[in-house]
Amino acid sequence: MTYTQNREQRTMPLSKLSFDELNRPEYEEYFSKVRVSDEEKQKRVEAALQIEEAALLGFSTVQYDYQINKMISWLSLQKALHESFRKVAKQYVDDDFMENHVRNTALNIALTTYQNLQNNYSEDSYWLSDDRAVNIAKTESSVILDRTEYAEAKRKGYRYKRWDTVMDGKERETHGEVNGQIVLIDEPFEVGGCLMMHPCDDSMGAGADEVANCRCSSTYLK
Ligand SMILES: [Zn+2]
Repeated sequence: MTYTQNREQRTMPLSKLSFDELNRPEYEEYFSKVRVSDEEKQKRVEAALQIEEAALLGFSTVQYDYQINKMISWLSLQKALHESFRKVAKQYVDDDFMENHVRNTALNIALTTYQNLQNNYSEDSYWLSDDRAVNIAKTESSVILDRTEYAEAKRKGYRYKRWDTVMDGKERETHGEVNGQIVLIDEPFEVGGCLMMHPCDDSMGAGADEVANCRCSSTYLK
């Protein structure tokens, strides 16, 4: 196998990236009901497209590893995801929360991928698919923008925040319960027994069950 062929195979999933725009309507639909300005919605869409691309890049390293070594390395996937997620997040917010979050997210995704594929590798697996990249992108772009809005509100001296849930029947029961609640900006919300400074905040113990695909947002008040 020549180097050129390897390179092509390594970048094979990247050819999908030129079709990224195809997923734009999916993100526009997903974020359409989020109770933020149109400008904020657009930021979520843009971040989601970048995260999707970063996730696909990571998955391509797994395919490459498997083609070469007939095994996959969670470590190289973790490194690739960490580096690329960090690059996206840093354009929006650069704080300890985000540093920790991208590190943990890259590790979780890498370990889940490894656990599901180590004895059962398939290139067509969900674990390497665009569907998974889109799911990751929906959640991670929300984390990035929820955190960005929180950091900006702090900087601008806002004193209160309100939890806003999209009440369309698809919301989590625990997020429906906290809808409309107003607390001091430095106090956490109590959401289903977890403490969260803002939607998609996993820094105080909230797990994926309170974060994944969450379309809640915060409104900051003087
Ligand atoms: Zn929610």
